[in-house]
Amino acid sequence: MIRRWAAGLVLVLGLAGCGGDAAEVAAPDRGLVGIAMPTKQSQRWIADGENMVAQFALLGYDTTLQYADDDTALQVTQIQQMIDDGAEALVVGAIDGTKLKDVLAAAAGAEIPVISYDRLIRGTDDIDYYATFDNFKVGVQQAGYIVQALGLSRGGGPYTLELFAGSSDDNNATFFFNGAMSVLQPYINDGILEVASGETSFAAVATQRWDGKVAKERMARLLDGTYANERVDAVLSPYDGITRGIIEALLEGGYAATALPVLTGQDAELESVKLIAAGQQGQTVYKDTRELAKVAVQMVNALVTGGEPMVNDTEQYNNGVKDVPTFLLQPVTVTRDNYQRVLVEGGYYTAAEIGA
Ligand code: BGC
Repeated sequence: MIRRWAAGLVLVLGLAGCGGDAAEVAAPDRGLVGIAMPTKQSQRWIADGENMVAQFALLGYDTTLQYADDDTALQVTQIQQMIDDGAEALVVGAIDGTKLKDVLAAAAGAEIPVISYDRLIRGTDDIDYYATFDNFKVGVQQAGYIVQALGLSRGGGPYTLELFAGSSDDNNATFFFNGAMSVLQPYINDGILEVASGETSFAAVATQRWDGKVAKERMARLLDGTYANERVDAVLSPYDGITRGIIEALLEGGYAATALPVLTGQDAELESVKLIAAGQQGQTVYKDTRELAKVAVQMVNALVTGGEPMVNDTEQYNNGVKDVPTFLLQPVTVTRDNYQRVLVEGGYYTAAEIGA
């Protein structure tokens, strides 16, 4: 199916001086960009997709935005379709970062540049740039919150802690976990934090497809077994959807909503920000998807127009075949103390949406 539309006219709403009238600006027709996103299960990917479509349109690109429902085979089919449709460039948020080698070889054969979006695509030479947040730092921020909330720098403990990691096929999950463990491991070694379940390896604590239900089941199992007679004081969670699953297990396991363990998260999802405002979840990591979209759009535009994409990291991200030139954005830790300033004043959510 050919999906090539003329870019047409972009309406730019009148700014100051235009008297509120809409001014029409003719955008050049720069061709089609394929945007392959992993899933709509998580709010962030929906925002990522919408932000990119809007920003590409302003520069004169048409887009085809596809979500693959966390199904790797479907994502391969969608990317192949984008190639067949004559995309000028691809932006790919991978489901399984190791399963795209063949379809990206096809993209390379058609001389289509590929941006690896948020998650590093592994095992292939056929990606050009990587746009992401400092993933190691995300884990450092999550663990830093646990250390601070338990008051470990002032002594005290021992405290019980359980660890959750993300999906093992997502390169980011290891970065988050390693970042967190770089902070937590010394306390574990000193006996100040005790992982009472003994489940400490990435493989033991990974959560397939970042699925909150999977995390809920594991938390319930830990509560029934290891924690039948003691309290869990803190839980490292890598992602808000996983945290919500953990909270459900804790509430069903008899913990009061007002006395939950110290809990972390990531993505500042609206449901979770509400839990932060209510004092149930302690922390999340905010990654402004508007900024990430800007980085990816800037990379594509440079590649399509013969320029040089901006990068700020050329060494941290090796995908098993090469160091992938990367632009890293900075994540921001969000708690009850700063969510108003960061998320509301920053324009990410309105106070009414959060409802606190
Ligand atoms: C992203 C996180 C997200 C997770 C689950 C990771 O690759 O970097 O922002 O929480 O996937 O969707």
